[in-house]
Amino acid sequence: MNLILLGPPGAGKGTQAKILEEQYGLKQLSTGDMLRAAIAAGTETGLKAKAIMDKGDLVSDDVIVGIVSERLDKPDVAKGVVFDGFPRTPAQAEALDKMLAGRGSKLDAVIEMRADDEALVGRIAGRFTCKTCGKSYHDKFQPTKKPGVCDNCGGTEFVRRADDNEKTVRDRLQVYNRQTAPLVSYYAKAGKLSVVDGMAEIGAVTASIAKVLNGVAKG
Ligand code: ADP
Ligand code: ADP
Ligand code: ZN
Repeated sequence: MNLILLGPPGAGKGTQAKILEEQYGLKQLSTGDMLRAAIAAGTETGLKAKAIMDKGDLVSDDVIVGIVSERLDKPDVAKGVVFDGFPRTPAQAEALDKMLAGRGSKLDAVIEMRADDEALVGRIAGRFTCKTCGKSYHDKFQPTKKPGVCDNCGGTEFVRRADDNEKTVRDRLQVYNRQTAPLVSYYAKAGKLSVVDGMAEIGAVTASIAKVLNGVAKG
């Protein structure tokens, strides 16, 4: 099963993708995480992407489609993928359709996670992630169970993203509304879109997503 979590920054895509990995054996494919890994590794792609990401703009479709295509050729995606933060433009969505078709696969569902802009700004401002396993936390909404220790992997180092500040978040929200929101109608037309309330508690959002996926599995 392949699904897309579609939603603005802070909607909870990464949080839910990690839960889906555990519950369904799917692989999270986060283009944001892949770009941050490229920056950390100091690759040419990373160097070019960094300035764009710091501004909250989108990295070019060619670069993104290239890294996703390479990723889809790895064997660990065989059970299916949760796309998190990809596609973000109509050109990426069309490229994804082709990449999956070329591999004898297809997209099963697109889940739009909706949330209010002001809530999103608050979520992003308090976000931090485990340096080791990438799990997202929030100072108020999702703290670690034990202070300073990752629930998931026991890691004790955490990172806050350079682009998770109020100014850049507002720019990223505009970029989402302008360049990514058109994908809602693209996938509605394809009969693949479901909407969940991303303002609900994390467990309630997980339950809404499970309902959608059960429907897909039954056909
Ligand atoms: P995205 O991947 O869509 O940018 P994240 O999953 O990283 O979003 O979530 C953004 C922030 O909001 C994180 O700090 C996370 O802990 C928190 N968060 C995620 N889902 C919820 C929720 N349903 N309610 C409150 N906070 C949430
Ligand atoms: P968010 O938590 O806001 O959803 P991501 O980690 O998905 O953020 O993305 C961080 C940044 O990486 C984006 O603001 C953008 O610059 C770049 N990026 C990530 N995925 C894509 C993509 N599919 N297309 C273009 N740029 C991307
Ligand atoms: Zn961890």
